[in-house]
Amino acid sequence: MGVVHLANAIETRNASRAIEAIQVLDCGRAEQHWEHRYGSRLPRLWWVFFGRRWVELPLQAFLIQHRDGLILFDTAIDPAVQLDRGYIGQAIGRFLLPRIFRLHLTEADRIDHVLAKVGVSAKDIKTAVISHLHFDHVGGIGQIPQAELIVSEDEWAILSESYPEREWILREHIEVPSAKWRQIAFEPTEDPLFEGFEGIHDVTGDGSIILLPTPGHTKGSISMLIRQEGWRPILLVADLTYETALLEQNRVPGTGDRETLLASFKKVRLLQERMPDLEIVASHDFAAKEAIARATHPNTTQGEQP
Ligand SMILES: [Zn+2]
Repeated sequence: MGVVHLANAIETRNASRAIEAIQVLDCGRAEQHWEHRYGSRLPRLWWVFFGRRWVELPLQAFLIQHRDGLILFDTAIDPAVQLDRGYIGQAIGRFLLPRIFRLHLTEADRIDHVLAKVGVSAKDIKTAVISHLHFDHVGGIGQIPQAELIVSEDEWAILSESYPEREWILREHIEVPSAKWRQIAFEPTEDPLFEGFEGIHDVTGDGSIILLPTPGHTKGSISMLIRQEGWRPILLVADLTYETALLEQNRVPGTGDRETLLASFKKVRLLQERMPDLEIVASHDFAAKEAIARATHPNTTQGEQP
């Protein structure tokens, strides 16, 4: 049971392990065009208006129990985007949204309700790392006003561009007075493990949670490397790919900058060559839960009873 497991983890915070648990949070269901998920040679506007193949898009976030406090990797979607007509300020956005996504949200998909379901109060979140500023990743920031929100400088810079809403970066729901945003720059490193990456950012100062720039889906998208003794290393790649297998096949989705995506894919695959047991986990991949379970229970082989 998730609840019992989490409660135990909180009580044993003083133990020597840096990370006690990682949990995949279910934050709602949606659908997207097949071309969006798997890529297409057709222009984006073609499949937005004429695409007829819809595929399931799970919305997920990640909860990491570090001994210094609870950390979220993304904050999911605000169900108000579907339930409240005024959520998207721009008429063009309101017009395009249902042509790009079919949302099947309920109030229960808001991050504070999702956290409560696994026995955690939203008030106890210390830090949220925001992989990128898309509305389905920053939708819960209003529910965690006490948390420090970490975002890359490159991603934050998009807010100063002429029309970020066109890229589903909704300023009115990001630049909110309650939010404690902290922009980070990546620091250069001598560690050969990270060769090829522009730099790193150590979130907790103990090397257990390292952020890496992996642009392409958006300009400032970041990934999170999680390392805990006894586990396989885990790389949360957010929306760099919609499925781990697609990254391995070098197949880019129907959104983002193709060349930048391919360059980031290459860096991630190089990292995987240096860490052969690395589990790559995408935010909208149905396989995320299984991958996290595999990485955190490395001695349990498939089919074996725990
Ligand atoms: Zn995204």
